Amino acid sequence: MSLPYQFSALEPHIDAQTVETHYSKHHAGYVGKLNELLTEFPEFLTMTLEELLASIDKLPEKSKTPVFNNAGQVYNHNLYWETLAPNDGENNLPTGILADKINQTFGDFATFKKQFSDLGIAQFGSGWVWLSQDLDGKLTLDKTSNAENPLFQNKTPLMVMDVWEHAYYLKYQNLRAKYIESFWNVVNWTEVSRKFEIANLKTIE
Ligand code: FE
Repeated sequence: MSLPYQFSALEPHIDAQTVETHYSKHHAGYVGKLNELLTEFPEFLTMTLEELLASIDKLPEKSKTPVFNNAGQVYNHNLYWETLAPNDGENNLPTGILADKINQTFGDFATFKKQFSDLGIAQFGSGWVWLSQDLDGKLTLDKTSNAENPLFQNKTPLMVMDVWEHAYYLKYQNLRAKYIESFWNVVNWTEVSRKFEIANLKTIE
């Protein structure tokens, strides 16, 4: 995917150098490696990332882990960039039916934000924090390690926070909690709501 904004667009919350390195080195590295791994398996190249991740078992044993790791990281990073958008940080809150659902599920926005943030602080080593919708239409919070994601629990991911060190180290060094606090200023609630509405249409069908 192409980054939907400039490297500097998330300043001062997530700095330009971090976004540039994250997108054009880390994320692009996973894309390049995945394409290289799949040259042996052209039938997988036409799949969506979701289809590919659901088809890992069809690969030869030696390719399963590297394809999973790189495809997972591409999927997770795509969603991460979509989760974010330029914002001045003021009153950046969900609205409409997503806001209602968050309040109904977690009590209020502050509780949701705290639970999500705490998962990011608690994640040992590299990983991700997710807001997803499960098959019963419930909102759920998960943390996953390395390249894992909630697709494998049949959930629809709505938003994600990268808590690999490369997501924050240049600006925040070891202070992951400061990065997490800044993350909330630039969440793209319009896009998260859009994904929630699409997930709901699927649930109703
Ligand atoms: Fe990352």
